[in-house]
Amino acid sequence: MPGKVFIQVILPLRLEWEPCYALPEGTGAHVGDRVRVLFAHQEYIGVVSAVDVPPRMDENRILPILGVDGTLPRVFPEEIRFWRAVSEYYLCGIGEVYKAAYPALKVDQEEVEARIRERLETRLLRLKEKAEKARRDDTRQRYLSEIEALEAQLSADKPALVHPAVTLSPAQETSAEAIRKAFAAGKTALLKGVTGSGKTEIYLKLAEETLARGRSVLYLVPEIALSRQLQERIAAAQPEVQVFHSGVSAARRSQVAARVRTSERYFVLGTRSALFLPHRDLGLIIVDEEHDTSYKQDAPAPRYNARESAIMLGLIQGAHVILGSATPSLESLYNAETGRFVKVDLTERFHEGADAEILLIDTVAERRKRGMAGSFSRKLLREITGTLDGGGQVLVLRARRSYAPAVQCTECGQVVKCPHCHVPMSLHRGPDRLICHYCGHTEPYTGCCPACNGELQPLGAGTQKVEEELKALFPERRIARLDSDTPDSEEAALIRRFAKGEIDILVGTQIITKGFDFEGLSLVAVLQADSLAAQQDFRADERAFQLLEQFRGRSGRRGKTGKIVIQTREPEHPVYAHLRGSGDEDLLAERRLFGYPPYTRLVHVNLKDSHEKRLEYLSRELATALLAAFADADTPPSVVGPYAPAVDRIAGESLRQIRLTFPRNRSLTALKRRLADTVRDFGKERRWAAHIAIDVDPA
Ligand code: ADP
Ligand code: ZN
Repeated sequence: MPGKVFIQVILPLRLEWEPCYALPEGTGAHVGDRVRVLFAHQEYIGVVSAVDVPPRMDENRILPILGVDGTLPRVFPEEIRFWRAVSEYYLCGIGEVYKAAYPALKVDQEEVEARIRERLETRLLRLKEKAEKARRDDTRQRYLSEIEALEAQLSADKPALVHPAVTLSPAQETSAEAIRKAFAAGKTALLKGVTGSGKTEIYLKLAEETLARGRSVLYLVPEIALSRQLQERIAAAQPEVQVFHSGVSAARRSQVAARVRTSERYFVLGTRSALFLPHRDLGLIIVDEEHDTSYKQDAPAPRYNARESAIMLGLIQGAHVILGSATPSLESLYNAETGRFVKVDLTERFHEGADAEILLIDTVAERRKRGMAGSFSRKLLREITGTLDGGGQVLVLRARRSYAPAVQCTECGQVVKCPHCHVPMSLHRGPDRLICHYCGHTEPYTGCCPACNGELQPLGAGTQKVEEELKALFPERRIARLDSDTPDSEEAALIRRFAKGEIDILVGTQIITKGFDFEGLSLVAVLQADSLAAQQDFRADERAFQLLEQFRGRSGRRGKTGKIVIQTREPEHPVYAHLRGSGDEDLLAERRLFGYPPYTRLVHVNLKDSHEKRLEYLSRELATALLAAFADADTPPSVVGPYAPAVDRIAGESLRQIRLTFPRNRSLTALKRRLADTVRDFGKERRWAAHIAIDVDPA
C-alpha cells in the first residue's frame, strides 16, 4: 500500500508553526493551493506551503484536509516567500501575514457594491440619451450636470485625463541616469529631491521603461488622500493604472488582485497593503515619500514597515527599488552612508523658485506685547491678509483635530478624562461631544463637571476652533477645514476645490502637509509648532523637521517664492536651525552618539492587560526572562523596562513596554529569533500570549 501523503499548511492565525495534514486518497495538492481544514474544531482556509513532508507526529492522529478549494486562486510561491521574509523580520507568525495578504472580504458587500455600480451605470446611459434628445437648453444643462456628478462618482477609481508628454530636464535626466546606474549595480536608489524638483516625473519615466521591458510596476504612496491627486497624474501617463488601497471597494480590490495575478504586466498605485498583491514579475517598486510613518503598520501583526518590506519584496521579485523623499528617513540616509543604498540628489526645483522664506514668531513674546488675538499673532494675521489680498491661498496647520483638546472645570480644576483611557477628552462642536481620540469613547457635552457639577471650560484650540476664529477674522473669505473628522467622501472634493482656488484658507492637521501640489498656495502657517516636537521620543526632532520641511515645500511652487510662518513658544529649538539648512548630518550624529537607531535596532515588546496587578507582575517576569535569555550572548541587547508608556491606559487596558536595543551586527538575526522564542515560550507557559506584541523597528 502506498504511504499517505502529508502536507504543511499556513493558517490565517497567530501560529508559530505550520500544521501538518493528510491528503485523502485520490486528492492531489500543490504548493499554493487553498485548502479547507479543521484546526482546534474550527474550519479555516489555509495555503499549502509544502507537499510530501514527513509526518511530524503519530500518522493516525493527523487530520485529513476537508478539501481543496478550486474556486480560490492559487497562491504563488513568490508570495509565500515574501510572507516568510516579513514574518521572520518582524517576528510574527506567517499566518498573520497570510491573513493580512488575503483578508476575508465580505462577499455580500461586494455584491451590493457591484449592484450599486451597475445601477449607476445604467442611469448614466439613460441620462446621456435624454441629454441628447433634450430640446431646451436648461433641461439639457440639468442633465449634463447630473451626468458630470455621476461620472465623478463612478470614476472614483478610474480617472481619464490626457497630459502632454514630459521630457525630463537635464537635472532630472542626470538623476534618472544615476538611478539606472544604481539599479545596474544591484542597489536600492534613494532619491532625495526638494519638493517640486520633479521626482514624480522621474518615477514615471523609470516606470515607463520598466513596462516597456515587459515587467510590472508597483508605486507605493503612504496615504489614500495622496494617491487621489497622484492618480490623475499617473493616469495621464499610464491609463492602465490600477489603484489599490483600503478606501477602494472590496469588489474592486479583488478585481485588481485578479488583474495582477493574470496580467503579463501591470502598474499598481497603492498604499502599503499593495505589497501583498499576488506579484510575480515586478520590475520596479517605487516608495514615494519614503520617510512617512504611515508606511508602518502598528496593529495588528504583521507590524511591518512598507519601506523595508518593499526591499524584501524587490529581492524576491528581482525588482529594482527606488525610495524617494524631500526629507529621507534617517534609516535610509544611514543605508546610503553604509553603501547599501545609492543616494541621488536632485537639488533644483523644476519651475524656478527659491525655497520658501521662513518667519518664526515667538508667541510668548507676542503675548507679553499683547500681540496675540486668540490663536493668531497679529504678525501672522498681517501675512495672511497680505497674501489673500494679493490673490494667494493660505494653508494653516494645527496638529490637533477637535474644537478643544481638553476641557477643565472652573470650580475644581479637574480635566475631564476618558473613563477607559488615561487621556483628556477632546471637545468637538456641532453637535457638542466629548471624544476620546484613543479609544473612540464619546459622550454628549453638557458643560458640567462630572465630578462637582461646576462649569467646564474648553482648554486650548484645535482645528475646529481655529477654523471658527478664522471665519470671524475673515468673514468675506472662503474657509474650510481638513482633518480626520472630514468624511472620506468629502476629502477628495475639498482638495480639488482648494487646488482650483475655490477655497482661500484651508485649516487642517498633518493631512494637509502631504505631497499635494497646489498652484496658488503662497503662504503656509503653523500654529503651536511646539506640539510637534514635544513628544518624549528620540525621533521627535526628526519627525518635526520632516513635517515642517514638507509643509514648507507646499508653498510657493511654480516659480514663486512662498513663505512659511511658524508660531512657537521656543524659537531657539534646534529643529528650526535645522530647517534653515544645517544638514541631515547633525541628526545622524546625534543618533550615533546616543546609540539610537539607525545605529542600533530597536524592538518594543508591548504588553497590555485589563488587570493592572497581573500586568505589573508578568511584565517584570518577562523582562527577567529576556535578560536571562541573552545572558550568554556575545553582544546582548540592552533590555529596559517594563515601564509605563506616555499614555498608559487605553480602552480599559493598562499598558507596559519593554525596550530592547540590539547592536547591528552579524548575530542580530539570531538574537531577534531568540527574543521571539523567549516571548512565545513565556506566553504559552503563563497563558498570556494574547497580551504580548512584538514590534520590530517601532515608528
Ligand atoms: P516632486 O514630486 O519632486 O514634488 P513633481 O514631480 O510634482 O515634483 O514636479 C513639480 C511640478 O513640476 C509638477 O507640476 C510637474 O508637473 C512639473 N514637472 C516636473 N518635471 C517636469 C518635466 N520634465 N516637464 C514638465 N513638467 C514637469
Ligand atoms: Zn478612551
